[in-house]
Amino acid sequence: MTSEYIHYSGLLLDRAGELRKDPAWLEDQWNRPDCCILLLKNDANLMRWKMAQEKSPVTIKHTRHEVEGLLAQAGTPVFLGLDNGMPLFALDVSHCDRQVMQPILADNEFIDLRQAGWLLSAQEAALLAYARGLLYWHRHSGFCGTCGSPTEVRHGGHMQLCSNINCARMIFPRTDPAVIMLVEHWPDSGPPRCLLGRNARFAARMMSTLAGFVDPSESLEETVTREVFEECGIEIDQVTYQASQPWPFPSSIMLGFRARAITTEIRVDQSEIEEAGWFSVEELSDFGEWGDEGEGYCLPRRDSIARFLVESWITDTKRRP
Ligand SMILES: [Zn+2]
Repeated sequence: MTSEYIHYSGLLLDRAGELRKDPAWLEDQWNRPDCCILLLKNDANLMRWKMAQEKSPVTIKHTRHEVEGLLAQAGTPVFLGLDNGMPLFALDVSHCDRQVMQPILADNEFIDLRQAGWLLSAQEAALLAYARGLLYWHRHSGFCGTCGSPTEVRHGGHMQLCSNINCARMIFPRTDPAVIMLVEHWPDSGPPRCLLGRNARFAARMMSTLAGFVDPSESLEETVTREVFEECGIEIDQVTYQASQPWPFPSSIMLGFRARAITTEIRVDQSEIEEAGWFSVEELSDFGEWGDEGEGYCLPRRDSIARFLVESWITDTKRRP
């Protein structure tokens, strides 16, 4: 299994990295009759989700003509890319008033992708995540962090430039790396087990892989080792990369690893992790599904790389003699 099967990744969109630097070309794309626009309000994406008619949410795109009434109050349109040659933009309507939004909201609503993303197709989920991540960055980078002057949108929204010509700092979209790791233990006798824990912020019952942010001047392997020891008191080695997942909630990428435990006695840190334990493949088969009504532990949600790490460990462990 490669990372293209991980939710929110594998977006088939030509981001036109060179072309988007040309303002005249961008203007042409914006004015094309087939130009499509995704609307976002704060961090929520516009969708239609009538429970009675549709099992999963439907992504809503608008034409230039349809959003004309919003442009005076909306943010600068941000170019996402070319979808089979068709230009695709995202527009932040967080500051549009109720009156101008009324025609747009007739059958649609702004929904948090974290609630609906796992029900969307891989391409739709990846596209909405991309738009959300980029517009989140815009909403939080309106001023230069060096001199405090307002910034100006460049490269179709993939760069901000400080408007103070004596500073002229170029600011690019930021992605914060975080590691997420499945720690396994293969005892001399008895079944192999993996380490799962429950973060205080998790939904009740959910046990997941450990995770943490990369510190400045730290290799990814060092972060994995440090976080596992800090959160559960377990020493590890053999840290190996598995896969990654864009996680724009709000601005991360999750870098997935597997590691081998050297020690097994768990000492939970109690601030981030409330509970942790070792689980065999057999024990995991009794886990419920995220969001179900059952009792006992449940697995991480299906759209997460945590789930991928757990399921790929189960598959690999079953295969080993
Ligand atoms: Zn500046």
